[in-house]
Amino acid sequence: MSGKVLALAGGIGGAKLVLGLARVLGDGELVVVGNTGDDFNHLGFSISPDLDTLLYTLAGLADRSRGWGRRRETWKFMAALEQLGGPSWFRLGDADLALHVERTRRLASGESLTSVMDHLRRELGVATRLVPMTDDPVRTRLRSGREWLDFQDYFVRLRCEPAVEEIAYVGAESARPQPEILALLGGKDLRAVVICPSNPFLSIEPILAIPGMRSAIAQCAAPVVAVSPIIAGRAVKGPTAKMMREFGIEVTATAVARHYARLIDVFVVDEADVDAEVPGEVECVTASTLMVTLADRKRLARSVLAAADAISRSR
Ligand code: GDP
Repeated sequence: MSGKVLALAGGIGGAKLVLGLARVLGDGELVVVGNTGDDFNHLGFSISPDLDTLLYTLAGLADRSRGWGRRRETWKFMAALEQLGGPSWFRLGDADLALHVERTRRLASGESLTSVMDHLRRELGVATRLVPMTDDPVRTRLRSGREWLDFQDYFVRLRCEPAVEEIAYVGAESARPQPEILALLGGKDLRAVVICPSNPFLSIEPILAIPGMRSAIAQCAAPVVAVSPIIAGRAVKGPTAKMMREFGIEVTATAVARHYARLIDVFVVDEADVDAEVPGEVECVTASTLMVTLADRKRLARSVLAAADAISRSR
């Protein structure tokens, strides 16, 4: 089938499937919407961790074992900063730093984040368009007890240890959705929307919290397919499972399906979760969803597209 595929993604889990989709689709057929709720200002730089993980992954520059930053990175800047008594809890490699310097310089000269990311991906030879959910600032914050934490404080400095009771996407209510995304969702050239196996609360929900985004996805003519980030009652990486427990939600693919129920047409679960129960109006598809190799990523991407195309044919 033809048309564009719009993928909603956070960092690590999202980037895995996005790479698979990019490799099985033709140049220009994939548009990725990245979460910017994790963005923050650090040491004077504008940092967009999820967009950068997606960018480095698509450019073949990502450090796969660490899960963030560039491979073959060097750390002279960080060592020198530490020697000067500067903050060292958020690690910035030397080559990675160049990206933050360049983005910050361009933003300060008046460019939008969309334009900056488009420039960067072209310079790195990435054919896939990588679009922030909005050009306006949105900051995910988490409440633990009486304290509200900035996202990176929680995620990196405190290693996701505090129990989370509430999440806020500060700025989302007044943020304007990136117009290209809404145009694609409302147009005829859309083959599928893919909700990647990213953290539903920290990576996907901030995107859906942008006014107009959720309804545009729910009402778009193309099939919407989500892939479960929970496999056999566990998250592959990160705090998704811990957070579900803290919210009193059972840690199952079924619970994730319920979370997305009114938004999606198809829910893809792992072969380990054949018993998953999805809401009646949602179709459940089983696939091998653990992505270790590039072949795994491409295989899952093909399964996701096949599930979407089957829905289109049946309509
Ligand atoms: P972050 O922004 O870096 O935390 O990354 P994401 O939100 O995009 O991804 C985190 C989620 O990805 C976690 O819930 C993981 O369970 C999920 N994940 C990571 N690798 C895989 C995988 O290979 N398969 C599936 N199904 N989920 C994965």
